Amino acid sequence: MEPFIRADQYHFIRKQVQKLVNAHATANDKDVQNTVKSLVEESVLKIFPSISNEQEQLLLPITSVDDKEKAESFLHRLHPYVQSFPYSEQGIKKLFPKEKKLKVPSIDEINLKEISYLSWVDPNTNKKFIVARKDHKWIGLHGSFTPSNQKGICALCKSHEEVGMFQSKEKGKVQGTFIKRGNYICKDSERCNQNVTSIDKLYEFMERLKG
Ligand SMILES: [Zn+2]
Repeated sequence: MEPFIRADQYHFIRKQVQKLVNAHATANDKDVQNTVKSLVEESVLKIFPSISNEQEQLLLPITSVDDKEKAESFLHRLHPYVQSFPYSEQGIKKLFPKEKKLKVPSIDEINLKEISYLSWVDPNTNKKFIVARKDHKWIGLHGSFTPSNQKGICALCKSHEEVGMFQSKEKGKVQGTFIKRGNYICKDSERCNQNVTSIDKLYEFMERLKG
């Protein structure tokens, strides 16, 4: 079986597994536990609209998870089927043709199975870059990032984390003008990626900032 689980789906499943463990730890009522089980099963199947029998057999044992150990071994079994982020240094560089000296993080610095997007600060220009793949194409943003030194809701992963203001600058319709668009996003993009449980939210964010 080929890897078929995207990183965002894997993180979604991880959160569902956590719900099961919590339900067993806190609710003694069997009915409550069963309700959580069927909700989890339903929501996991929902994120795989065209699932094969084999894939279903891998995922459905999620409902037998009732403690931390089983949770870990279940997630461990899924791991070989998680897709890697399709890293390509050339592909990423081509997105930003004006950034002649752009340094893209090297492949060994990234945990490719954990990320839905790649983000880094270029040491030469101090700009923050965000790139992802959509419909087999690279999409990307760059802009300034100012840490806010407080927690807030990240516009990208929707979690309550240490955030900062990311601001992109696009050329306006009138020559010489710029449109600035900004949002608070996580300071730590590795952590943010762990919280990305829907790739569509990520795309929405990127499109909104691109205008
Ligand atoms: Zn975030």
